[in-house]
Amino acid sequence: MADSPTTKTNLLDLDREAMADWFVQMGERSFRASQVMKWIHQRGVSDFDQMTDLNKSLRATLAGIAEVHMPEILSENISADGTYKWLLRLDGGNCIETVFIPETARGTLCISSQVGCALECSFCSTGYQGFNRNLSVAEIVGQIWLAHKAIGFRENGQSKITNIVLMGMGEPLLNFDRVVKSINIMLDDDAYGLSKRRVTLSTSGVIPALERLREIADVSLAVSLHAPDDELRNELVPLNKKYPIKDLLEACETYVADSPRKKVTYEYVMLDGINDSIKHAKRLVGLLQGRQAKVNLIPFNPFPEADYKRSPQSTIDKFRNVLVAAGLVTITRKTRGDDIDGACGQLAGQIVDKTRRQQKRVAMVARGVA
Ligand code: SAH
Ligand code: SF4
Repeated sequence: MADSPTTKTNLLDLDREAMADWFVQMGERSFRASQVMKWIHQRGVSDFDQMTDLNKSLRATLAGIAEVHMPEILSENISADGTYKWLLRLDGGNCIETVFIPETARGTLCISSQVGCALECSFCSTGYQGFNRNLSVAEIVGQIWLAHKAIGFRENGQSKITNIVLMGMGEPLLNFDRVVKSINIMLDDDAYGLSKRRVTLSTSGVIPALERLREIADVSLAVSLHAPDDELRNELVPLNKKYPIKDLLEACETYVADSPRKKVTYEYVMLDGINDSIKHAKRLVGLLQGRQAKVNLIPFNPFPEADYKRSPQSTIDKFRNVLVAAGLVTITRKTRGDDIDGACGQLAGQIVDKTRRQQKRVAMVARGVA
């Protein structure tokens, strides 16, 4: 499937507006977009011949000028707790990860938005890989399409994917236009039909893009805070030097200002001896108390290059108790799929490392060293 660049239009790249325009341009009625979106996104059909409510000549035309082209699944791992992790290969050879986490009442798909990431957070495996490129809409939505195909539907015909989080590899707000078009497809009733509440975008805090997102898409927001003061956050999330905590919190308040019931989720990775003391917890309370906030404590997922260790469970519990006592809604994220590997970005990171090692070896052979 991958590596077949053609001049055909990839219909996975088009949200409703773009697809309706595309049909009108070819002399068809705009409602064709509804029909084709249902086939592709709800029934998982990529072969135009199977789209039986289109007349035969239109099907033949589409086969000549369009395609439904998605990444290729390189590997699928299913962990003991039911978590799926797919390693996907994109055109050109880059790899990304997609994870599905089933729970009793919901199923959450975690998708990537970029290959690598430019923001270099010091505790993040994707950050260590550096930035490679933005994903296309087809590559973002293709992750949902492939996951749907792989895990199927519930007995009642409902999708097992009830929630989507943009928390995989990359900074979604630095791939803004494509991420917004992908969100349009997630929310479209003829595609995945999710409510805005069930789509969550996680960002390290690109403030100007946050303002635009609120106007355009207004999905649920998670913000990677990770430290209660600028000095420490500068170290962990270097983007903080550009957009410091005070400004970020103000932008977050504005994001949810239209409804007192909405909350921003503040993510806080628990790093042993770095940001996990009672003092840090109290400072965090000082920052977030009285705001429309909830806190998600994330046990650190170690990866080979990282200098950090995961906080012990007892430290995480004590930290959490301080927040809860102050009235902050706080949950500790379960570590899922630990047996298939640790940090998000790690699987793809291993591929990058292997490629680098291979390149190094090729270079050494060329120099006559190996
Ligand atoms: N770039 C966005 C979204 C992708 S990262 C962001 O930073 O928010 C998704 C979440 O995973 C973020 O909260 C990030 O801080 C966290 N994360 C990254 N590396 C991690 C690790 N090794 N262990 C635990 N959480 C990590
Ligand atoms: Fe990028 Fe998010 Fe990782 Fe930071 S935590 S390097 S913003 S993917």
